[in-house]
Amino acid sequence: MNNFWIKTPFFIKWLFPKYVWSAKDQNKTIYLTFDDGPIPEVTEWILDILKKEKIKATFFCIGENIEKHPNIFERVIDEGHTIGNHTFNHLNGWKTTSEAYIENFNACHSTIQKYTSNYKGPKLFRPPYGKITKTQANRIMQQGYKIIMWDVLSYDFNPKMSPEKCLTNVVKNITCGSIIVFHDSLKAEKNIKFALPKAISLLKEKGFQFETIF
Ligand SMILES: [Zn+2]
Repeated sequence: MNNFWIKTPFFIKWLFPKYVWSAKDQNKTIYLTFDDGPIPEVTEWILDILKKEKIKATFFCIGENIEKHPNIFERVIDEGHTIGNHTFNHLNGWKTTSEAYIENFNACHSTIQKYTSNYKGPKLFRPPYGKITKTQANRIMQQGYKIIMWDVLSYDFNPKMSPEKCLTNVVKNITCGSIIVFHDSLKAEKNIKFALPKAISLLKEKGFQFETIF
């Protein structure tokens, strides 16, 4: 398997400087992110772990899943985590017209608004698969959103990835300011249930602290 993309290469970050790939701070702060929820069991299991470990994280939610499981979405917010837009139907920007993409982004935005009247967090967007065109990104940024990419990808969603390798992917590649991607999805369930608690305890041992995306 080609593991080239576990750590986002420097030239990619350099090519797309308007997107957020990691934080520039020199503190030992890192940012856990969870994509594709909220769904029963997996998201709830993650919330339980985060609560036990006293960690806040960022959840990039799919609008359709928020509509199906609003109570879990509200739990994410009530427990002090930050949420972001991940489109309504998990669209691939490279295969979607800008018109349709923005419409889908706006549908997710409206859904988030509906359930978050008291929420004062930042406006964050993560493109599904990290695939977005410049036109799409510019239009989303014009609406006051930051485009949040990542620095370390766990590959928890990949059935060929062993849970042990998934853990190594995360722990070995994290540096100060890293943004790490996990998934609260059924595909990732087996790997994340093994890797997340162990990654948290190893990273705490190394002196890292966890924050929500700014
Ligand atoms: Zn996704």
